[in-house]
Amino acid sequence: MARRKVDHLVIGGGLAAANCARWLREEGGEGSILLVGREPDPPYNRPPLSKGYLQGKEAREDVLFRPDEWWDEQNIERLQRTSVMKLDSSERVATLSTKEEIEFETALLATGANVKRLRVDGCDLDGIHYLRAFANSEAIKADAQSRKRAVLIGGSYIGCEVAASLTAAHGVDCSIVMMEDVTFEPFYGKEVGGFFQGVLEEHGVTVHGGEELERFEGDGERVTKVVTKSGLELECDFVVVGIGVTPDVTLARAAGLELGEAGGVSCSAGLESSVPGIYAAGDICEYDSPIHGGPMRIEHWDVAFNQGKTAAFNMLGRGLEHDVVPYFFSDLADWVSMEYVGPGSGDLVVRGSMYEHAFTAFYMDEGRVVAALTVGRSDDLEHASRLLTERTKVDPTALADPDTDLGSL
Ligand SMILES: Cc1cc2nc3c(=O)[nH]c(=O)nc-3n(C[C@H](O)[C@H](O)[C@H](O)COP(=O)(O)OP(=O)(O)OC[C@H]3O[C@@H](n4cnc5c(N)ncnc54)[C@H](O)[C@@H]3O)c2cc1C
Repeated sequence: MARRKVDHLVIGGGLAAANCARWLREEGGEGSILLVGREPDPPYNRPPLSKGYLQGKEAREDVLFRPDEWWDEQNIERLQRTSVMKLDSSERVATLSTKEEIEFETALLATGANVKRLRVDGCDLDGIHYLRAFANSEAIKADAQSRKRAVLIGGSYIGCEVAASLTAAHGVDCSIVMMEDVTFEPFYGKEVGGFFQGVLEEHGVTVHGGEELERFEGDGERVTKVVTKSGLELECDFVVVGIGVTPDVTLARAAGLELGEAGGVSCSAGLESSVPGIYAAGDICEYDSPIHGGPMRIEHWDVAFNQGKTAAFNMLGRGLEHDVVPYFFSDLADWVSMEYVGPGSGDLVVRGSMYEHAFTAFYMDEGRVVAALTVGRSDDLEHASRLLTERTKVDPTALADPDTDLGSL
């Protein structure tokens, strides 16, 4: 079995991994870097898969993390379609699916997340899609271009973004089926979630809240109908399921790394796992957040991006804490865009006008801002980040008043 040594082993070909490899070089690391990824594609950004790429507005090259030639220019070795099968954390050796063994000095684990799957009658019928990778987005787009009616299972980001993209760009007749009463309710509450549902409905998306899926029916091959437990029946030509993800800690668990309560790899504030020299970043990373004062695991693009960077600095011995305020964005076609800092929940304070699509929703706990979402008032978000970091007590009435200078709070 071939065996060789690298300075930095980066496991997982997603965004956290790619940005870590990038910063290992940009921060002056001269050692050898090997990035190992299971997918056939080089590292790419996932958000466009439910937005611009699905709509046909962005091409494959636009979605890639970096163009193909960049990796060679940076002298970063990249293996695609290759999995790390085993990680021996005491010997510091990884075994690849190619049977090669890689000794390493430092390693990053960034194996991301897997979609949750439905196990109901009819779940194996053709035309039922999940969305995580390039190929999934392409398959959904192909159905959207040749078929008319879609049912989205789940009223969160994937369900809502895909419904908007399919309606706006492909003229597909979309219905959302979800257990919550209104879209995004678990994240933003009824009022703000209801705002986004209103936008979807204004553009022709039908939303069925409070419905639990019972089964899929088909013609023997493809899905033709969605049936809920209450008896609602929706005819359809294809389905997209977006019911959440679970962190992929298979490798970490087998390697004996400590796992956290949220199911991720338990890490210090500097993103180091329970084994010194092995770091984690992105969707699998459950780190001791200096901002939130406790363990946090967050499945956001920007978080994966920034954690990859912090991990790279620390793999080079910089000893940084990951003290970046978590940020998130989402678009429902070109109908509405949202930005968010958090996560956190609490009493809602609204500044601005939902009617005019220009408002910021602050979430407050014990007089402090713990999260904020904005539509059309990005400047507010900078202040929200500051208030959140400084844990400043603020008067909700002043916060709600659009005439208050947030800088003065
Ligand atoms: C359709 C879609 C839209 C999204 N939109 C937004 C958005 O608008 N805003 C936002 O903030 N976030 C969004 N997200 C979430 C965001 O993309 C993720 O949080 C981010 O991609 C996580 O990056 P990651 O590197 O941790 O994991 P991933 O991107 O999941 O990458 C992990 C990679 O590791 C590989 N891997 C796993 N195990 C192994 C192994 N043993 N060996 C080798 N490779 C392995 C996996 O195959 C995968 O390629 C979206 C996600 C999706 C799917």
